[in-house]
Amino acid sequence: MSDILTRPERLVKITPEELRSTAFTVEEKIKLRRDVTRRFRGGVTPYLSSLIKKSDAIRRQFVPYYLEGLDFGRDAPFEEGKNNRGIYGIERIYEDRAVLTPYFDCAAYCRYCFKKTRTLAGDAPVMSEDNIRRALDYIAGDPRIDTVLITGGDPLARPDMLEGILDGIALIPHVNKIRIGTRHILFNPEHITGELCRLLARYNKPSTVDPLRGRSLSLGVSFNHSDELTVEVAEALQRITAHGLGIRGQIVLLKGINDDAAALRALLDRFVMLSIVPYYLFHCMDVTGTYHLRTSVQKGIDILSKLASRSGVYAPTYVYVTPVGKHRIGPGSRLDYQFIDGKKYIRSVSPYVADEFLAFSGQQKLPPLHSRNEDGFVVSHYLDGDDEVLNWPT
Ligand code: SF4
Repeated sequence: MSDILTRPERLVKITPEELRSTAFTVEEKIKLRRDVTRRFRGGVTPYLSSLIKKSDAIRRQFVPYYLEGLDFGRDAPFEEGKNNRGIYGIERIYEDRAVLTPYFDCAAYCRYCFKKTRTLAGDAPVMSEDNIRRALDYIAGDPRIDTVLITGGDPLARPDMLEGILDGIALIPHVNKIRIGTRHILFNPEHITGELCRLLARYNKPSTVDPLRGRSLSLGVSFNHSDELTVEVAEALQRITAHGLGIRGQIVLLKGINDDAAALRALLDRFVMLSIVPYYLFHCMDVTGTYHLRTSVQKGIDILSKLASRSGVYAPTYVYVTPVGKHRIGPGSRLDYQFIDGKKYIRSVSPYVADEFLAFSGQQKLPPLHSRNEDGFVVSHYLDGDDEVLNWPT
């Protein structure tokens, strides 16, 4: 592999078969890692830095790793959806939901991030005031949209911007569910102050009389390992729940980090103890730089099968995400494999109607490797992961 050393800042083309039999030299690893850090930003907060020293599971999620330099996956799987009808920062692929991404940066950079061209590559324009106004007008103009998800980057990293958007959403009568996706609680638990919680709680106005007239605001938080649920993080979560806000927990299945039943059970135990409702277990997406982090989809099924004897409150919904939406997989699911250009894909008929996807998303055609079947539903092909290659160094 000595030619790696002559390829500055380029991704390394190598097949999984070659990878299995390759032993990188120390110089090659150093070179690859340097190229990775030139290509993708890295960074952690002081708090996260203190955790990294104590936990391999956390370190592997944040410290750039030389194998991120492999040529694999897609750079920007959802970029095309980020410019819906010429409005930067709004996405819609479902009838009832719109996604807003006002601010595209984070206080720390997860190596598996599927938005990495905007977060880790730093190409992250915020939504302009004009785009925010037009996005809110678009939502206000379609009474079918009852849910707005504000995600990022990290909305809690910019509470000032978030407040203005929440004020705008609160004026739209048919939006009665606001969700905020965040990982900021792990990065800076001290930022989750009483003042911030009170700000969020202002927009949580459930009606006990008429479900159509109230409005809920809840948080979707991402944690991948029980080591992340420290005393400081747990106290921040308790400040949130003390203000009457619901919290759903999302997990990304990551090789060498949480891909066994014991690790997930420990994390789910912490979720339940801290009033976090287990929501999604995501299969890690096929994004550039994630080859070494992706298990097979089947591995997630096997782990969930081991956990299936536990109470239903411990059962997140296992999904893999394609550009047309999520595909749910259960402990008994059977996967339909197809090989395309030597790569292993999972074929599935989605629950999404092709014409509806095109209409809601504002896109002209279905994404690559997607087609429609005779009933009009989208057929997707999702690139599987690899359990055999690349154990982390001890
Ligand atoms: S917090 Fe979310 S958006 Fe930010 S780097 Fe991590 S995965 Fe990406």
